[in-house]
Amino acid sequence: MPIKCMKCNKDAIIFQKYSGMHLCRKHFIEDVERKIKLTIRKQYNVEKGDIIAVALSGGKDSIVLLHILHKIFSKRRDVEIVAITIDEGIEGYREVTLEKARKLTSELGIRHIVRSFKDEYDKTLDELVAQERELGACSYCGVLRKSLMNKIANEIGATKLATGHNLDDEAQTIMMNHLGGDVERMIRLSPPRALEGLVLRAKPLRKVPEKEVALYAIVNDLPFDMSECPYAHEALRGEVRDMINDFEVRHPGTKYSIMRGFDKMVGILGKEFPQASLTDCRVCGEPCTAELCQACKLLGRS
Ligand code: SF4
Repeated sequence: MPIKCMKCNKDAIIFQKYSGMHLCRKHFIEDVERKIKLTIRKQYNVEKGDIIAVALSGGKDSIVLLHILHKIFSKRRDVEIVAITIDEGIEGYREVTLEKARKLTSELGIRHIVRSFKDEYDKTLDELVAQERELGACSYCGVLRKSLMNKIANEIGATKLATGHNLDDEAQTIMMNHLGGDVERMIRLSPPRALEGLVLRAKPLRKVPEKEVALYAIVNDLPFDMSECPYAHEALRGEVRDMINDFEVRHPGTKYSIMRGFDKMVGILGKEFPQASLTDCRVCGEPCTAELCQACKLLGRS
């Protein structure tokens, strides 16, 4: 006999081990959206005149993010949502997710900006990593994408830049910084504040587990791609992900505990390690803490 939803008598589609709740489709959707609305209300204060840039890769997280932000804000005439997709140039991968991103933005009638590493940096990610290199592909990809995303967000006058990081991503990043003993990097994960030249980052999905983001995309029939980037195996993140998932199975709620502990700690750490002031990179003009930004360093510009 099918298990019933704890809030009504319909068939459950999910059991949340961490909360002990069985939920039907309707109550599952409500639960995901409630968590996201709460995060936005508590941390990101959307105001009249806001332009929210959404980093849209076409993977499930960013597709869900755009769908929900559109659901929440599309009736507000004083808030605009603009999707931005960066085509890093990863053959056989990015073309597919880009197509999903185009499909969703056209269905929702959302302005969509697509820019590529090739146009901006004169090289695709595939070309960059084919060169002799000391770092993993994700280091190049992450730094360059972040820099380009901020540049475009500034160009369109965005007041917030929303990304699709979910609970699993957050727990993994916190744990990776712990393992690397990198407290200063950890502080950068803290609730964001406006800094000159750096568009305010927002992570509305940070309280939603990855599996629930995927289920939300499926039950809402959203166009998304589940394939994995060919460089993903190079990342330390994969090992940390497996470790945390293993803990979560044996100790449900571990991912939330990691994030809650971090959220409590971050205020105290922030006093010990105040955020460095920003200056303009002397080559590209993007905000950075040194004379030369990370992106220009990686590209060998001087
Ligand atoms: Fe970029 Fe690494 Fe993500 Fe691939 S897995 S898109 S290389 S950050």
